[in-house]
Amino acid sequence: MTPEPNVPKPAEKAGEAPSLNFIRAIIEEDLKSGKSGGQVVTRFPPEPNGYLHIGHAKSICLNFGLARDYKGRCHLRFDDTNPEKEEMEYIESIMRDVRWLGFDWNEHLYYASDYFEQLFEWAQALIKKGLAYVDDQTAEQISANRGTLTEPGKESPFRNRSAQENLELFERMRKGEFPDGSKVLRAKIDMASANVNFRDPVMYRIRREEHPRTGNKWCIYPIYDWAHGQSDAIEKITHSICTLEFENHRPLYDWYIENVGIPHHPQQIEFARLNLTYTVMSKRKLLQLVQDKDVKGWDDPRMPTLAGIRRRGFTPESIRAFAERIGVSKRESTVDVTLLENAIRDDLNPKAPRVMCVLKPLKVVIENLPEGQEELLDCPYHQEKPELGTRKVPFTREIYVERDDFMEDPPKKFFRLGPGREVRLRWGYFLKCERVIKDEKGEVVELRCSYDPTTKGGNAPDGRKVKGTIHWVSAKHALPVEVRLYDRLFNVENPASAKVRDWKADLNPKSLEILQGAMAEPSLANADPEMRVQFERTGSFRADPIDSKPGAPVFNRIVSLRDTWAKMKDRED
Ligand code: ATP
Ligand code: MG
Repeated sequence: MTPEPNVPKPAEKAGEAPSLNFIRAIIEEDLKSGKSGGQVVTRFPPEPNGYLHIGHAKSICLNFGLARDYKGRCHLRFDDTNPEKEEMEYIESIMRDVRWLGFDWNEHLYYASDYFEQLFEWAQALIKKGLAYVDDQTAEQISANRGTLTEPGKESPFRNRSAQENLELFERMRKGEFPDGSKVLRAKIDMASANVNFRDPVMYRIRREEHPRTGNKWCIYPIYDWAHGQSDAIEKITHSICTLEFENHRPLYDWYIENVGIPHHPQQIEFARLNLTYTVMSKRKLLQLVQDKDVKGWDDPRMPTLAGIRRRGFTPESIRAFAERIGVSKRESTVDVTLLENAIRDDLNPKAPRVMCVLKPLKVVIENLPEGQEELLDCPYHQEKPELGTRKVPFTREIYVERDDFMEDPPKKFFRLGPGREVRLRWGYFLKCERVIKDEKGEVVELRCSYDPTTKGGNAPDGRKVKGTIHWVSAKHALPVEVRLYDRLFNVENPASAKVRDWKADLNPKSLEILQGAMAEPSLANADPEMRVQFERTGSFRADPIDSKPGAPVFNRIVSLRDTWAKMKDRED
């Protein structure tokens, strides 16, 4: 029952073996031909403007996985070019999440802001070549003059300033002589290009904003497109892997590198981003959910963030297996969230100890069991894994069973409790319902039952069969616990789709159900949050690492069982 260690297991596990996706095919070709110097250097380049989500995990597993499998290296680089939205909190959370996934950048931690000086010099070089100019148009004018997909853009009246004038103005921009937004530096390329990214893209803007790393040293900041490709080149990245939306930025990145004259030229390869059903995956939207308090924070267990997924109880192994299973392609698609749920089921199923917790208790008095009698039943933690050991569970006159396991007027196929019906208590005896006790409102508040002392271990010597097995806890020994059941964050498969006007309208109001009065077996009193357990018949759980207190655990349901009914049938004779 030790927590599973967080070590990446390269490819030895079934389901985690790397398949030859199209990116691996390109890399193997490059390695064979000697392109990229026989090396594989990748990077994961987040912008520190939010927490990482499961989509980023796909990119992390891909980039670090390639470096691992081809004996190269993978850098962690923060593309921190936009200080308005970036914070140290995000930088720290991103490092925590990448490590948690089991990857290590070793000494290769970089920041685009480390290259600000170099980028400034390269911008000056472009100016000297007549390939960049300072534009005094406002942001609105620039955008209005950009043209459309069918119409060319209009050249700026400032486009033909001399290199000397541009150099001086650019220098003065840096010195803070002009107000925010009053000037930009643009590349001088082609206002009529079919690719709008070539229509004199902005390279620098003036923005007096404190940067998380460079403080107030700069008041001009490079635009992402100007910083990103050069940063890759500086780090001698061989394969710059990114999502499809950057496909038509690639020619611009190539243009910058060629015209600045940087000898190292990374190869950009685009793949389809991960979309998942019943959730949203843009940092902007996730931030809005946090700010509007629709969730309890970035690490709310309903969030698709790695912080949320981790807190809920997903293991890094399951996320890596999921990333491997969904694969990498060029085709946009949406992955069914059940694939993610199955990944954690497959990971936990063979190793999570089974224990009993009654989520919605109904009291049962076993009338033929004397008051004060206590029997300690030896209960295995895992039916198929004797090596996980056993624990003692007290069996007494008063127990709790699941309210849903009783029906006053059950249909024939209901194999659980009903008046006169008999079931098996997990690891215990046969139990028969003799009478029902109701309160003044007519609600069932207690069952009066009898047990058959000859059925210890779950079989009757007379060959009598029962079909159902239910979980239970001794009332006297039960540990009251809080249980949090999570459901999908949204009611619709694709809340971000254009058809849905207000994407928040489809938030699932029942995405969190808190059960205050659940009753667990006493062995869970000091549940270690690192440990994942299966509550018999109701799912996989872990003690919440923040809200659990010694003696008063709070349990998060990680995932329900694949099919509770099928599981129950497994245990029938
Ligand atoms: P978002 O669109 O969610 O705000 P982003 O693309 O702005 O994310 P970045 O910090 O720029 O976030 O992303 C870092 C890296 O992760 C990039 O290489 C990006 O391509 C990749 N990435 C982002 N979202 C996904 C996704 N859903 N699936 C796969 N890779 C992704
Ligand atoms: Mg981005």
